[in-house]
Amino acid sequence: MSQIPEFKNHIAGEWVAGADQRPNINPSDTDDVIGLYAQADAAQAEAAIAAAQAAFPAWAASTPQQRFDVLDAVGSELLARREEIGRLLSREEGKTLAEGVGETHRAAMIFKFFAAEALRGGGETLASVRPGVSVDVLRQPVGVVGLIAPWNFPIAIPAWKIAPALAHGNTVVFKPAELVPGCAWTLAEILSRTALPKGAFNLVMGAGSQVGQALVDSPRVRALSFTGSVATGRRLIAAAAARQAKVQAEMGGKNPLVVLDDADLGVAVNAAVQSAFFSTGQRCTASSRIIVTDGIHDRFVEAVVAKMKTLKVDHALKAGTDIGPVVDQRQLDQNLRYIDIARREGGTLAFGGEVVERETRGFFQVPALITGTTNAMTISREEVFGPVANVVRAGDYDEALALANDTEFGLSAGICTQSLKHAAHFKLHAQAGMVMVNLPTAGVDYHVPFGGTKGSSYGPREQGSHAREFYTTVKTAYTFPG
Ligand code: ADP
Repeated sequence: MSQIPEFKNHIAGEWVAGADQRPNINPSDTDDVIGLYAQADAAQAEAAIAAAQAAFPAWAASTPQQRFDVLDAVGSELLARREEIGRLLSREEGKTLAEGVGETHRAAMIFKFFAAEALRGGGETLASVRPGVSVDVLRQPVGVVGLIAPWNFPIAIPAWKIAPALAHGNTVVFKPAELVPGCAWTLAEILSRTALPKGAFNLVMGAGSQVGQALVDSPRVRALSFTGSVATGRRLIAAAAARQAKVQAEMGGKNPLVVLDDADLGVAVNAAVQSAFFSTGQRCTASSRIIVTDGIHDRFVEAVVAKMKTLKVDHALKAGTDIGPVVDQRQLDQNLRYIDIARREGGTLAFGGEVVERETRGFFQVPALITGTTNAMTISREEVFGPVANVVRAGDYDEALALANDTEFGLSAGICTQSLKHAAHFKLHAQAGMVMVNLPTAGVDYHVPFGGTKGSSYGPREQGSHAREFYTTVKTAYTFPG
C-alpha cells in the first residue's frame, strides 16, 4: 500500500506539524484516505494569532498594487488548476466532480474580484459643514481576523473570507472544517508562494473546540467571520460581543420555495430539484421547504418525483453521477432521523430517503421528498442539511407568503410564478436576505452580497463590495489646512 501523504499547518510562514493528525476520508469511498492532516492545539493557534499580529503592520501598509498582485495570482492559479482542485474537493466533500470544479472556478473568480476590490479601496472625501475644512472617511483594516469555515463549500467559503480579509489589509488565521482540510491546505500552499509577508496568512487545521475556540477567545483577534451551525454560531456571537470583537456569522436556513398555480411547471421543478437536492442538499441556501398552491400541487409533486427518479446517486467522481454521497455517517444519521420524525408527525414519504449501496463503501442516500406536511411540523422548522425536502400546501399567494415567512430563519427565499405582481410583492415582503424569482434558492453570484436575516445571519454581509463593512473599520479625519 502506498504511503498516505501528510500535510502540515502553515504558521508564521513555516510548515508546522500538529499536536496530532486526522485522516481525511473520502465519503464516496471510506477506504480512500486522502491524507493525514495536522491538528493544531490551542497553543499552536495562539502562535498563529501572534504571527498574524506581527505581520499586520507590514500588510496593512501594503499598496493596493501589492494586494492586487497577491490575490490575482491566487485567482489565476485556482483557475489553471480547477480540474485538479475540483477533483480533490469532490473527493473529500462528496459533491460531484462538475460541482467541485464549478466551486473551484467560483473561488478563482472571488480572488480576482477582491484583487480588483483592493484597487478600488473605499474611502470618501466630503466637504465639512465648517468653512475650509475637509472630511476624509477612511477605510482601514481591522487587524487580525479569525476565519472559521464549514465543510460544505471547502474552497468557495474560505475564498470569500480570505480574499476580502487580505484585500482590505487584514492578516488572517484561517481554521477550516475538520472534514475538508484538503482544499484548505491547497489554498494555503498557493498563498505561501505569493509575496504575502510571513505570518499574514496562517492555516491552522484542528478541532473547533481547540483551534476555533482559541480564535474566539483571543483578545488579539479583532474580527471573527464564521459559517456553520446555529448552535456554534450563537455561542461565538455572544463571546465576540462580550470582548467587543467584530463578528459576522452565517448559520442555518429553512429556505422556502413558493410555487404558485401560474408557475411554469418546468421552471418550478428545476428550481426545486436543483436547490433541494444538488450538492447533496448540503447547502445553507437549499430549498428544503417547498410551499405549493393547491391548483398546481399534485402536478408539481408528480413531476418532481419523476425527475428525482432519474437522478443517479453514486461516487462523486464517477461519470454520470448527479448526487454524490452525504458527507459522513453523522450527517446521514441526521437525515434519516428527520425523515423518520416527518413520517411520525404525519408526513408521507413520496419518494426516496433510503440508504443505498454502491461499488464503493460510502454514505449514499436517495434524495427524499416528503409531502402532506404542515409548516408546524419539525421537518418544516429545523434544518436537516441533507437531500431531504418537504412540501407544504397553501390555498393562495397570501397564505404561501405567510407560510414562507413563518420560520426563525431568513437566508434565501424563492418564488416560481409568471405573475409580475406576485413576484414584485414577494421580492419586497419575503423575510430573507436573498430572494429568487423563477430560480433555485441556492446558487448565487460571486460579486454581490450574500447573507440572511432573522436567525440565519448576524453582522455585515459577505461578498461583493459590501464585504468591506466587515473587513474594514471607519475613521473620520477632519483637516483644516491652517
Ligand atoms: P457542523 O456541526 O456542521 O460541523 P459547526 O458549527 O460545528 O457545524 O462547525 C463549523 C465550524 O465551526 C467548523 O470549522 C468547526 O470546527 C468550528 N467550530 C466548532 N466548534 C467551535 C467552537 N467552540 N469555537 C469556534 N469554532 C468552532
